[in-house]
Amino acid sequence: MIPASGSYLLANARLHRSLTPGLAAAFDSDGFGLADIAVADGKIAGIVAHAKSKTPADAIDLGGRIVLPCFVDCHTHIDKGHIWPRKPNPDGTFMGALNATGVDRAARWSAEDVARRMDFSLRSAYAHGTKAVRTHLDSVPPQEEISWPVFETMRETWRGRIELQAACLLGIEGVRDKAWFERLAKRVAAAKGVLGVVTYMVPDLEELLDKVFAEAIKHGLDLDFHADETDDVAAISLKKIAEASLWNGFDGNILVGHCCSLSRQPDLEVLDTLDKVAKAGLAVVSLPMCNLYLQDRRGNNTTPRWRGVTLLHEMKARGIKVAVASDNTRDPFYAYGDLDMLEVYRMATRILHFDHPVGDWPKAIAATPAEVMRLEGVGTLAAGGSADFIVFKGRNWTELLSRPESDRIVVRDGRVIERKLPDYAELDELMVE
Ligand SMILES: [Zn+2]
Repeated sequence: MIPASGSYLLANARLHRSLTPGLAAAFDSDGFGLADIAVADGKIAGIVAHAKSKTPADAIDLGGRIVLPCFVDCHTHIDKGHIWPRKPNPDGTFMGALNATGVDRAARWSAEDVARRMDFSLRSAYAHGTKAVRTHLDSVPPQEEISWPVFETMRETWRGRIELQAACLLGIEGVRDKAWFERLAKRVAAAKGVLGVVTYMVPDLEELLDKVFAEAIKHGLDLDFHADETDDVAAISLKKIAEASLWNGFDGNILVGHCCSLSRQPDLEVLDTLDKVAKAGLAVVSLPMCNLYLQDRRGNNTTPRWRGVTLLHEMKARGIKVAVASDNTRDPFYAYGDLDMLEVYRMATRILHFDHPVGDWPKAIAATPAEVMRLEGVGTLAAGGSADFIVFKGRNWTELLSRPESDRIVVRDGRVIERKLPDYAELDELMVE
């Protein structure tokens, strides 16, 4: 129904207030308003409140279907993706995931293996309506020399369809090897990447964080941490990152993922951490599906009693930027997933209570991660911006979030894309034991 010409008027579309700055419409209590979207030459020429009497006869009437901007997935691991058939997690725990992935990486992650699995992931993300992806890249020697060139090629291949970013990933102990870490930071800078580490409560954490910040400042890099992905209340590295940012006077963007242990800590400890996170201007991404899967596994014949996610509501109330993202897909850290940000949002709504009211939570899968990733004009719908959006069947939240919306329409630069998900069988030859 959407013409291939790239120029048309979509009438009677349901847009969300939080993702359409500048739209003056009558918004309902769920934040939706009816609007007409004019598309010309692949751009949004204008968005105005819908008025039936003023709609031209040749407009395409969407009948009040929801239209969202294309998604931004700011925390993924597409270098690990889809290895599950050859390297499952034996017990579903974090340690089980770490060990299994380490073995698989050392044995199997050639440039071709990584590239084919990455491309598979990106085709899925694109078909689901995602426009930008940040991936972490395991960067323990010698993997950094294999994966970073693959990433650079992949970014070029996908330019114009998916804006791909990468952050290096290593345990913070790796920073102790000063010369090697300096080389890594230089390599990341050369690839215009993001500097990332996984923080643990090691005795020299503060010193190691200072080294990370020093390298980021030296090369002008943004930072991306995995922090406190555990139920251990003694894990307070989120606070340590905020403190290090403040005393180093860091002015780049910092994204911190997971922060699970925060949900388990006493209120006073939490308040102190949130004060510092807000003051330091950190952004936080929760990975609801992966956290639900990995956290609170107590061994055989037990039921999880904790959801695993961090305190996003309390953070947002303090003005901290918050996002949700996919994290792992079909690897030992998460046995499922397909880089579908609608699934992430649906799960986040249920796990994190993104409802009653919905408020501006939709920003967490579009506008906010776009801001953290420094992607201008991405994650919102506005006149003058690219016509990159998704037309759903649902006309309200309960319709949108009850079905997988497998028949959604993805529009890029004003034109409907072919939404073809790659066949799992393509990866069969990489999965042979
Ligand atoms: Zn992660």
